Amino acid sequence: MTQEQVSSPEIGEHEVELFQLLIGGKSTDALSGNTFDTVNPYTGRVWAKASDGGPEDVDAAVTAARAAFEGEWGALTGFERSVLMRRLGDLVAVNAERLARLEVNDSGKLFREMVGQMRAMGGWYHYYAGLADKLEGRSIPTPNPDYLVYTTRVPVGVVAAITPWNSPLLLLTWKLAPALAAGCTMVVKPSEHSPISTVVFASLLGEAGFPDGVLNVVTSLRGEVGAALAGHPGVDAVAFTGATSTGRSVASSAAKNLNRVTLELGGKSPHIVFEDADLRAVANGVVSGVFAATGQTCMAGSRLIVHENVHDELVRLVSERASTLRLGDPQDPATEMGPIANKPQYDKVLGYLRTAVEEGAHVACGGGPDDELGGYFVRPTVLTGVDPGSTVVREEIFGPVLSVYTFTEESEAVRLANDTPFGLAGGVWTKDVHRAHRVAGQIRAGNVWINDYRVVAPSVPFGGFGDSGIGRENGIGAVDEYLENRAVWVQLSGRTRDPFVMG
Ligand code: NAD
Repeated sequence: MTQEQVSSPEIGEHEVELFQLLIGGKSTDALSGNTFDTVNPYTGRVWAKASDGGPEDVDAAVTAARAAFEGEWGALTGFERSVLMRRLGDLVAVNAERLARLEVNDSGKLFREMVGQMRAMGGWYHYYAGLADKLEGRSIPTPNPDYLVYTTRVPVGVVAAITPWNSPLLLLTWKLAPALAAGCTMVVKPSEHSPISTVVFASLLGEAGFPDGVLNVVTSLRGEVGAALAGHPGVDAVAFTGATSTGRSVASSAAKNLNRVTLELGGKSPHIVFEDADLRAVANGVVSGVFAATGQTCMAGSRLIVHENVHDELVRLVSERASTLRLGDPQDPATEMGPIANKPQYDKVLGYLRTAVEEGAHVACGGGPDDELGGYFVRPTVLTGVDPGSTVVREEIFGPVLSVYTFTEESEAVRLANDTPFGLAGGVWTKDVHRAHRVAGQIRAGNVWINDYRVVAPSVPFGGFGDSGIGRENGIGAVDEYLENRAVWVQLSGRTRDPFVMG
């Protein structure tokens, strides 16, 4: 691959492009006129600028979304929405490489992962296009034969979406695709650390033929603009992905307006590895769970709970692979691990590594910054001898750090796995089919993989128990998050009845 191919084709080396807000189908500056820089975490250089929207831009975006909802978009049938969504899915596939490069520039995630993610992402629009024309109500019997009762399913209205920096477009898509199928409109505020791909993606809706205002984007440097959107009196539902602490505040803003909310939050997900497991497959799964995406994934399998008889061998295999991972330029398809996405996150990961050692953990490999590469590179780290009550086991690190501890009995493994406030995901590794399902059925998490890790699909619900969130994205049920049910009563007898008694 030549240098020309690995650098972003849209952004020249010395030219920094400004990406504006998208409101009502028009690219526009923030009302304040302010902008902010976005830094490529690999090069450390500013590679783009975004408009720095404020609460007044949120107002305008919500107004535009409301106008589309009550106007042209709201008048479309599910069949018509479905056609547009299929076109959007096709356009996503055509633009996959371009969108992936924007995300890599913003977040430092690997091109090899993001291009695959972008190619698969069109499938989410196709999947939900298949639901848009199948939103059926029901005819419901009642004890009184004088009535015909049926339900219709109607879109909830304007949705506020707030997304994190680690997979901005996929995590937006998990909200937008079912919301469009339901007939909603949306205002999205992407993360200040990775705002650009969302702006470019939103322009594809216009290209696909969506009416103006169906998706509006307010980029902003300030978290409080997210808060202004989450608590805006003009929105009808809130869909958030991000940290648990932010999720609590988003939920309380939504509650003030009595709005429904979906929250996809953090995790501290366990792998449980039994003695009979194929340890090479486990090592591969563990690497994919905690070092892929530099560990910056909500479903990171960051706790390795391993039977004491295979602990040493598994730690050897994982450490061997971890210490030979190819760190480097995320745009290079041969790279296996990129940098941490931004300075605050880099500092946070290093802080956790110091705490782990202070609390008695042994560093089996990695353990600090990559001195050769510099920048925000942290070496993939395996911590052993970790106390299950220690900070690195209790808290989400969101970096390439694996904490290993042991068990002897199955019940102990389940207890350790569930000893966390989170409940997003988990892995069970064993060749015993009885034990595999028995244990999977006891893990309190929204997603459990048996003999694999980190697999998702549009058709499979994703979300968490406990501090990992509320509601589910993906799957047929996700569309219900964006629909209201209306019951219609039809009087059949034509008689009048006693007005002082409820019918
Ligand atoms: P974050 O909570 O800091 O930010 C997420 C978004 O919320 C950003 O757009 C941010 O600007 C905005 N925001 C900040 N303060 C806000 C406020 N008071 N009100 C409303 N919005 C506000 O999270 P992050 O650091 O961008 O992302 C990492 C976190 O996201 C991790 O905890 C990770 O586990 C979680 N995550 C969860 C999933 C999932 O599906 N469960 C997926 C990816 C990431």
